[in-house]
Amino acid sequence: MSSNSKTKITFYGGVHEIGGNKFLVEDKGTRIFLDFGMQMSKFNQYFAEFVTPRTCNGMNDLFEFELLPPLKGLYRTDYSKHCVFDGNEETQFDAVLLTHAHIDHCAYVHYLRPEIPIYCSEATKLILQALQDVGAKEDYIYFDECFQTYINNKGTRSRKRGEIERIPRNIKVFDDSKPFRIDSIEIEPISVDHSLPGVSGFIVHTSNGSIGYTADIRFHGRRQENSERFVEECRRTGLEILLCEGTRIRESVSPNESSVEEDVKNIVNRTKNLVVCNYPAKDLDRFLSFYNAAKDSGRFMVIDFKQAYILTLFQTSEFWKNTLPKPTDKYLKIYIPRRGWGLIDKDINFWTKKLILEDYDNWSDHFIDESNAVYYSFIKDRQNECLFYCSDFQVQELIDIRPKENSAYVRSSTEPFNDEMELDQERVKRWLVHFGLLKKESEWYHIHVSGHGSRDQLQHIVKDSDSKKVIPIHTENEEYFANWHNNVVNVTLNSSVEI
Ligand SMILES: [Zn+2]
Repeated sequence: MSSNSKTKITFYGGVHEIGGNKFLVEDKGTRIFLDFGMQMSKFNQYFAEFVTPRTCNGMNDLFEFELLPPLKGLYRTDYSKHCVFDGNEETQFDAVLLTHAHIDHCAYVHYLRPEIPIYCSEATKLILQALQDVGAKEDYIYFDECFQTYINNKGTRSRKRGEIERIPRNIKVFDDSKPFRIDSIEIEPISVDHSLPGVSGFIVHTSNGSIGYTADIRFHGRRQENSERFVEECRRTGLEILLCEGTRIRESVSPNESSVEEDVKNIVNRTKNLVVCNYPAKDLDRFLSFYNAAKDSGRFMVIDFKQAYILTLFQTSEFWKNTLPKPTDKYLKIYIPRRGWGLIDKDINFWTKKLILEDYDNWSDHFIDESNAVYYSFIKDRQNECLFYCSDFQVQELIDIRPKENSAYVRSSTEPFNDEMELDQERVKRWLVHFGLLKKESEWYHIHVSGHGSRDQLQHIVKDSDSKKVIPIHTENEEYFANWHNNVVNVTLNSSVEI
């Protein structure tokens, strides 16, 4: 067999690191990427809040540190013209498949040519849309061409400004378990359980055999049976290669999502006044844990604009609208913060609706007219009736709300894993101490379960999927895999494996 009839997987990220998955599968001239994520920890070694890759240098600032592979015919032409390519190269890639909408899997979609089809689940598309609509800089769903000029009315050339014509990307939504074909490759997407909706593992059928890709996976959320189905389907297929994540391979156990819901309920029930909480807004299973806790204890769950916007988008889905509450659900209140001039609680007859709305962005201002919209005074006056969502970027609201004695705070997100996150959390704690929400360490309620499977769960995947070969990805601890399988292949960045 000649070498070019083999199928090749090249690893451009996500090996010996957590996230940044970018795996190129080449089969009989068909070239598809599995995920196109950002290598967050490596990125943070070179860049920071005020040290960012320069747009004027195209992708070069990222190429410099191998944070993106310098491949011809992959990237958006407006940027390509500003780096090693001239921007006129032909498109040489057939598709990018996304497992889910976490940035370590999808953020660098921003750099892709808009004509390259992006395949993802409906929920992934909805979350990407929410991210872009509420202000993410990445061109996920719509593509805004950079470096455009126009001839102004004086007849001189100016930089493009005003309304930009947004080009929709070529996003193709797949259905769970419904195979689809991209030239010589057939893809079988299978839903798996992780910490946001619509996550898909893939079985990639190539002309030389099948590749399984776990995505990010766990068996202790609300959709354990999906992850089981993925393992069964891998076994039934007879895989040549399994790409298996190993984020939490050092952890031996995992509590489950229902324990989060129970623990939150207990705290809410024994708290006399306000309960303030924080969790990742995209994690709709976690949202449901808090929503159920509020509902069962007779409180309102008070959500922010972002959460309300995500729930609004999910109402457009025939599938998701039945599993998630509407933003106007009777147990939900939508919190309207004071912004800009802070006119929301001022005399509307004097200031006018138009001026009041100018405090808010277009994507969120319509929530003000919802019947369940509330301001700080509602929560301030009815503290024992509310479970108030407060992200780390909204702690100032506590100044307006003023939690009373016997209030509590529940944190439901991942533990800080770098210095920056540590400092951020310390700052939040200082606010909580100031408002009497944290008087002693035992009042620090950290109630969380991870989106990733623990060692026993990963062992189950590796053993029971019965692949000929296993390649550890999305982990810094590949060594554990050899305990469970006699053909584990450890790969390095930019290296390839052939079938
Ligand atoms: Zn990940």
